[in-house]
This record gives sequence, C-alpha cells and structure tokens, in this order.
Amino acid sequence: MKNLPSAITLCEVGLRDGLQNEKTTLSTDQKVELLQGLINAGFKVIEVGSFMHPKAVPQMADTDEVYKTVGQVPGVELRALIPNLRGVKRAVDCGCKKVKLNVSASRQHNLKNLNMTPEESVAGFADCVQAAKENGIAISGSISMPFASPWEGRIPLADVEAIIDAYLKVGITEISLSDASGMAVPNHVYQLCAHVREKYPQAAWWLHFHNTRGLAMANIMAAMEAGMTQFDSSFGGLGGCPFVPGAAGNISTEDVLNMCDEMGIATGVEIIKVMELSRKLRELLSHDLDSYILRAGRAKDLILS
Ligand code: ZN
Repeated sequence: MKNLPSAITLCEVGLRDGLQNEKTTLSTDQKVELLQGLINAGFKVIEVGSFMHPKAVPQMADTDEVYKTVGQVPGVELRALIPNLRGVKRAVDCGCKKVKLNVSASRQHNLKNLNMTPEESVAGFADCVQAAKENGIAISGSISMPFASPWEGRIPLADVEAIIDAYLKVGITEISLSDASGMAVPNHVYQLCAHVREKYPQAAWWLHFHNTRGLAMANIMAAMEAGMTQFDSSFGGLGGCPFVPGAAGNISTEDVLNMCDEMGIATGVEIIKVMELSRKLRELLSHDLDSYILRAGRAKDLILS
C-alpha cells in the first residue's frame, strides 16, 4: 500500500457523540472517571461533551461540571461541541479551551432546521470566533454529511467548497469532515480528502466516520491514503445520530487501534487500557457495544507463545 502515514492522531469522541445518544445518563463522577481513564490511555485529543441547551441534549447538561472537575491537563486538548455564542460563554466559565462548531452540508437539512443555507450558518459563527479569540479559546468547525446526506444523496463538491470557504472567511482553519449519515464510500472519501488537502493547504483536517454501513474502517484507510492523519473514534463504537435512520456509532476506537498497531502506524494510545474502559462502559450502560475487538480480542492475543 502506498502513502500510509507512520503516525495518526485519534480524538476520542465517545463521551460526547456516544453518550448523547444513550438512554442511561451517566453521573458526572462516572464521566470524569472515564475521561481520566482516556487521558491515562494516552489520548492527546478528547471530545468531552457539548454546551447545547440542556433540554435539547440532557445527557450533556453537566459538561461544565466535568471541565471544572478535571481542569487543564497539560498536553491534552479537551474539546467541546458548541451550537453558538452561548457555548463560547459556557466554555469561558468552566475553563474549556477548545470548542467546535458544526454545520450540515445538506442544504435541505439546514434550510428546514435553521432557515439558512449552510454558508449563512457559518458566516453567523463570526461572533463565536471573535469571542473565542478574546478569551484564549481555540475554535474549529465541523461539516456534517459532506459526502452524502439522506436528503440529497451525494453532496456536490461545489457545495462542500462553499462551506469550507465560509469557515476560512470567519477565521476557522481546523475543519472536520463528519460522515454522520454513514453514507460515505472509500473512493469518494479519497477524492474529497485529496482534493481539499491540495486546494486548502492552510487548513488542518479531521475525519469523523460512523460505521452505519460497515464502511468506516475502509473510509479511514482511504483518507489515510489521501494524506489525512487526524480521525475521530469512539470507545466501544458508541454513538448514533438522532436524525439519521438506523445510524450506528462512530468507528470503534479499539478497532482502529488494533489495525494501526498491527500495521505499524503509531497512535500513542494503549489499546489494552481502552479495552478496559470499553468493558467498564458496557457495564455502566447495560448493553452490548459495537466493537469487533471487544468481542473477539486482539489478533495477537490468540498467538500462543
Ligand atoms: Zn458523529
């Protein structure tokens, strides 16, 4: 295989993208314990929670408390998803130093929900960027469903570019391409990733794949071959998506770690520690998790010495 990176960075998103879809709401102490376990396993980027309205996402209502309890961790970026300027204010108040905005690449989805085009939504983030900068908070942006959506099918490249342009215009240069609908396929992932890396060298990219149709790992491989090195994943494969029928969780962290370990791609994260945390999570949530490695164990554990 050509062009594979020697190292990648994983952002663990289970505490946010995963837990927000669960019926069981974990206590603040349980979340803090899991977060500290993830830091101990070696993650340098973790999505801790979100500052959405507590009525809209009750599972994330205590994100502020989690930040206050854990505090700053040197060398580890603890990021939170925010909807708007109010999210930046909550970040300031609880000591969160990294926030992420999100917009849907689906024009129909965005128009229906917000009565705005995606570019108009992003232009409206200018006040968040300003407030974040004034308070020493780093800010990034996500594009949800840039590959395909349940409303439009394949999203035209020009639409994705218009959103990227809008992000760059408000001063956001770290951009996540988020296949929330689990509709991306590897050849398209390769094309889009290779294209945006070449066209926007000033931007830093993240890829976020849900495993709804079993293609998340193949999509990560395709993105790696196109030069991408930053990926979101979720321990135990936790997650879903409220507006996408049958949505599965993010690609499981331990599955990605197993592949990378076996292929000699460094992640800096200890798979054994993540597997322990996923087992604990399975107990806390009282249901099985969508993780091959949790079910089958690592390949190397089968080899008798
Ligand atoms: Zn997601």
